[in-house]
Amino acid sequence: MNQRANGRRGRVHVLVVEDEQTIVELLRIGLTYEGYHVAVARDGRTGLELADKGDFDLLILDLMLPDLDGLKVCRRLRMRGNDIPIIMLTARKEIADRVAGLDMGADDYITKPFSFEELVARVRAVLRRRGNTGEPTVLRAAGLILDLETHEVRRGDEPIDLTPTEFALLELFMRHPRRVYTRDTLLNRVWGLDYEGDANVVDVHVSNLRRKIGDRERRLIRTVYGLGYSFRPEGEEKGGDEQTVE
Ligand code: CA
Repeated sequence: MNQRANGRRGRVHVLVVEDEQTIVELLRIGLTYEGYHVAVARDGRTGLELADKGDFDLLILDLMLPDLDGLKVCRRLRMRGNDIPIIMLTARKEIADRVAGLDMGADDYITKPFSFEELVARVRAVLRRRGNTGEPTVLRAAGLILDLETHEVRRGDEPIDLTPTEFALLELFMRHPRRVYTRDTLLNRVWGLDYEGDANVVDVHVSNLRRKIGDRERRLIRTVYGLGYSFRPEGEEKGGDEQTVE
């Protein structure tokens, strides 16, 4: 159980230890937007020092780091009795290392390249497992029920069978109702930064998602012309006022 988070509802403090600038920015911007407080260390030694002070609820730790690699940071923290939840970042070729990471006491690992939604899902899962929930495990809107633990979606009593991509899209929409997402943002958030396909893939998946959740009239997932898509569970009457575009 995490002492810090209990006295400080909602705001979870994440320390990112990573030297790769694009990933640092992806995590900093994305996690801040999701409501986390984010601090960054760019080498292992600084990361270890900061994590040791106990001011963080979660550590996202890259494997390959200057000064002190992620495995050593992880092992030293555990040897000192520090039980901060740790998610290791590893490159695809470092499979043996990531297994070693779990042996060293990491809670989970994620393989680069990853999409932000994948990462944030792991973050939530690790925090939930450690009892640091601070957030609902079930999202509800417009008769839709999305269960983050079982990965099941229902409309009323009726189960809806979604692909992982459709699930990630719906989760993003339900977490941020009324927000307008451009296709590029959805590509980055759901498919990942290194996705190199056509942006039309977003339209195809949104279309399939609408069909499956019974939104044939496109009132729930709105097309915002010239911009992208927006989830509007309260219906169209309230439209027109402030909207945030991403
Ligand atoms: Ca690195």
